[in-house]
Amino acid sequence: VITIQTREELLRLRQEWPRPVGFVPTMGYLHEGHLVLMRRARQESGTAVASIFVNPTQFGPNEDYFTYPRDLERDAWLAESAGIDVLFIPPVDDVYPVGYATRVEVDGPALPWEGERRPGHFRGVATIVLKLFNMVQPDAAYFGEKDYQQLQVIRQMVEDLNVPVHVVGCPTVREADGLAMSSRNSYLTPKERHQAPAIHRALEKAQEMVNDGIVDTWSISRVMYEVLAQAKDMRVDYLTIVDARTLEEMDLVDREARILAAVHLGRTRLIDNFTLLPPQQRS
Ligand code: AMP
Repeated sequence: VITIQTREELLRLRQEWPRPVGFVPTMGYLHEGHLVLMRRARQESGTAVASIFVNPTQFGPNEDYFTYPRDLERDAWLAESAGIDVLFIPPVDDVYPVGYATRVEVDGPALPWEGERRPGHFRGVATIVLKLFNMVQPDAAYFGEKDYQQLQVIRQMVEDLNVPVHVVGCPTVREADGLAMSSRNSYLTPKERHQAPAIHRALEKAQEMVNDGIVDTWSISRVMYEVLAQAKDMRVDYLTIVDARTLEEMDLVDREARILAAVHLGRTRLIDNFTLLPPQQRS
């Protein structure tokens, strides 16, 4: 793997990359969820590029920017083993030099849920993703469904701003007990880690209920809350069944829906989501 830090170097080298260029933006501390995106980019591209950048502007003032886990040496090794050709690791002042003044603001899918709880978060995400796209100039970019709302926000931005990048969404990778992989799982104490799979159990329970013909989202949510209550240290931030595209709340699962969940487990905030298809659409 070639590691690039400066924009000048990127500019010089990217002319020579075999196309198509597949790009995986990350904040590092890589796990199997990231590596699946990287292997997919490797398979579908002439050049597979990944970035590692803990983007300060998408963290709120009381969030974990300074404590976010980092291990560049291990990340470089893992990215290489996943077939990444180029690793772009820009310094913060290179991305946001003194005098930086522009932000990308998405409405629509960026407004509810995470958008309400984390003001400015998606502005930070949309801005850094557009900047990275402009720097790397990929043909395709790979994102995880783990951050489902983020994926919808990026799709919206790419469509609205005519960004010439093909956005590819990839399924969530989970631990054996169902917990969605996340760099933030490293914050969990052993006791919390033991309780965390309740999130996935609740999401699965919803799918079972729909399969049994229960499609009113109020009844489904009530049962999901009961499952989550089994995890004593868990506090639900939001739990909602929404239209898979617009992210607007639904009363009945009469079309493709998505369950979005955010919980606090001790000092850690975890998010997860699950697709929910109405009974007749299920194969
Ligand atoms: P992050 O480093 O958390 O910003 O994530 C970088 C990319 O990896 C984003 O597109 C995430 O959605 C994706 N990702 C993170 N965790 C997972 C997972 N468990 N499964 C699939 N994709 C993931």
